[in-house]
Amino acid sequence: MPNFNWLESYQLISAVPLLEFPKLGNSMNMAITVALTQMENSQWWPEEQIEEAQFGQLFQLLKYAIKTVPYYKDFPVPNSPQELQCTWQDLPILERGNIVGEGGDLLSKFPPNSHGKIKTQYTSGSTGQPIAVKNTQLSRVFWRAFTTRDHIWHGRNPAWKLGHIRIAKKGVAEYPGTVGKGWGALKGKDALIETGPIAGLNINAKVEEQAEWLLRNEPDFLITYPSVVQKLAEHCLKQGIRPTNLKQIETISEVLTDKVRHLVDLAFGVKIVDLYSTRELGYLGLQCPKNNHYHVQSEGIYLEVVDEQGHACPAGVPGKIVVTPLHNFAMPLIRYAVGDYGVIGDPCSCGRGLPVLKSILGRERNRLRQPDGEYRWIGLSAMAYGEMLAIAPIREYQIVQVSLDELILNVAVDVDLSTDQIKTLSLWAQKSLPFAGKVTVIGHDELKRSANGKLELFQSLIE
Ligand SMILES: [Zn+2]
Repeated sequence: MPNFNWLESYQLISAVPLLEFPKLGNSMNMAITVALTQMENSQWWPEEQIEEAQFGQLFQLLKYAIKTVPYYKDFPVPNSPQELQCTWQDLPILERGNIVGEGGDLLSKFPPNSHGKIKTQYTSGSTGQPIAVKNTQLSRVFWRAFTTRDHIWHGRNPAWKLGHIRIAKKGVAEYPGTVGKGWGALKGKDALIETGPIAGLNINAKVEEQAEWLLRNEPDFLITYPSVVQKLAEHCLKQGIRPTNLKQIETISEVLTDKVRHLVDLAFGVKIVDLYSTRELGYLGLQCPKNNHYHVQSEGIYLEVVDEQGHACPAGVPGKIVVTPLHNFAMPLIRYAVGDYGVIGDPCSCGRGLPVLKSILGRERNRLRQPDGEYRWIGLSAMAYGEMLAIAPIREYQIVQVSLDELILNVAVDVDLSTDQIKTLSLWAQKSLPFAGKVTVIGHDELKRSANGKLELFQSLIE
């Protein structure tokens, strides 16, 4: 157990007039504080104890879902948490498509009043059709507790200045960027703890502008996307730019590769931390404070990695990531397939009992289909990246599967590729991916991002 006492290090904001000591926040923040205080202990419980506690909660959730949610009405009613734990893997997987088609059926007819106000979170589905997920104030208590846990785990000083290169509408946070007080959306008495200033910049700023913004604002801590930080690191290396104040970078939303970790180390010499979350489910995994893998956030979700039959994959074997949020009684999602694939790891050397998610393999539709019809995982090694860069100075790449026997490799380059480079890159792709079919290489000035700003590294146009 660590000696770190978060309540000692992070100053709570007092919401009660005339109260200075000891401080008490508003009711939402007091709930977060109590949740977090318990989570400071539960993270160290043995894995079996954590799972037993989760099934106590899942038992409540499933019984409530069967009683009040039309979609689950025919599910077998469990008699005890122990029985549920034994039969859990027999429950069907809820695919993303079920939400689009049957969103209404998944809503509870009687969401518990005591769980607070219901809000809707929107997220873009793989078809571009938005998915609406409803959650309660209770789920949001845990959401914010995990945000704070992430700061605690990675030793962030709340007085730090946060820099945020983010998705924003045209006209919002455009270069030269915005400055403000406090890291989070909640300010003043609504915030949980005192935090330092924030500098924001629209993701569409040019890389030169981002670098200038970085030097002018000198944040201690930067949050952005792996593809943004990659470009920025490359630019800074090339131009000999090095911010002096930066202490840590956190990446969100896209897959963080070893290549980008290495680049950040080279360009900025700071720690890079990844976060695995989805808008509809909240925090799924936080990076371990001591290792590059993730710890499942078991106090908020029950996460499984399963095979095509819905049965648990052993550690080290990739499978579908299936998540059940423990506290959302307004729209219970039981065994929901997030659309990502992952690999469970062995217990962590840090001593935490929270299960290890060794890697996240990206979106399901990004699996590469072979000419023989079989699926293969695409995972480029650091060495393969090195080989690619030796062929041509590629800034970004994207692989698009157009048919069973053809891939397109889109690459962003400053200077047009020669016929020879195109040929060598095509051979490299066939060898490294691995793919026996034809690979067409196309050079671009810039690669197109999807509507939500993500750069999809792999795309499949066949299913
Ligand atoms: Zn760990």
